[in-house]
Amino acid sequence: MNHTNKNELAVRNRFLFQLFLVSCFLFLVSCAQQEPSRTEIALGNTLCTITLFKHGNENIYNEIFNKIREIENLMSVNIPSSDISRINAAAGIESVQVHAEVFKVIERAVYFANVSDGAFDPTVGPLVALWGINTGSENIPSQHKIDEVLPLVNWRNIELDESNTSVFLTQRGMSLDLGAIAKGYAADSAAKIIRDANITRALIDLGGNIIVIGERSANVPWRVGIQKPGHKRGESIVTLQLTDKTIVTSGVYERYFKENGKHYHHLFEPFSGYPADNGLLSVTIVMDVSMDADALSTAVFVLGYERGLVLLESFPEVEAIFIFENMEIRSTNRLN
Ligand code: AMP
Ligand code: MG
Repeated sequence: MNHTNKNELAVRNRFLFQLFLVSCFLFLVSCAQQEPSRTEIALGNTLCTITLFKHGNENIYNEIFNKIREIENLMSVNIPSSDISRINAAAGIESVQVHAEVFKVIERAVYFANVSDGAFDPTVGPLVALWGINTGSENIPSQHKIDEVLPLVNWRNIELDESNTSVFLTQRGMSLDLGAIAKGYAADSAAKIIRDANITRALIDLGGNIIVIGERSANVPWRVGIQKPGHKRGESIVTLQLTDKTIVTSGVYERYFKENGKHYHHLFEPFSGYPADNGLLSVTIVMDVSMDADALSTAVFVLGYERGLVLLESFPEVEAIFIFENMEIRSTNRLN
């Protein structure tokens, strides 16, 4: 384990993974603007940019964005006809049969809830609604209201039936929210379409949920920056050099409101009902599967540094970068 400040930081490993100090979120430092790319807003106001190098064509862009929209239509809590909204509407009443892909993502979410001892919990829906982060009506709820919804946040009350891909939330008032994992799944789905089309060089950026496919050019990795918290967008605190990896960050700077000089962000500690307040500004995960990276970045952020490291011991192929409130940077740095 490397405990280092940013002036000392240098991480190398067999995946051409390097951290450089140049400057919380992710952006492609070397995204070739002149290359054809397509940007659309999808997945709940997320800026989604796909860049295909060589052999990319309109049909493949269409296929990718159709897939992203299909996933949004199945998994968004804000679309009343989505499978997730149907599950939520039937909470405490009956089980709901869902699309196989929705079932798969919920199953994976339950897996991460289990291994993180509930720090990651896809039933945070009632808390998300109560705090209203990013709705324009954010507020600090009364302790009474928090205490009221806390019993509804419990992943153990999700019943999954694999035989007919149905899902039942056992308590009335429960609701699923896949906001911490669905973008990763969408990124993986986009990567599958790209790889199936034999495109060997591409970038997927779903609101900072990034997959780099292949190399930037022969023997030159992609460069992905982690946004310096509190600074101009595009100013990085760390730059990663990567080939064929996904990079996902969870951090306090994405969605928050300020009251009495304090930040209240969107990553909730399911046991207290408050945004996690543990000295971290962001956690970035680097690995192969974006859905898992998405879930892990949220889980590790909510667990905090020490407990997050314990969870990461079960995932030896994963690299994590932590940024603290004092701008200290620590990384797992264990792939050397
Ligand atoms: P991410 O940016 O991937 O970390 O996901 C953040 C989103 O996940 C939030 O906007 C909520 O919708 C949801 N969320 C918040 N706290 C949790 C939690 N402890 N476990 C699972 N999902 C959460
Ligand atoms: Mg996440």
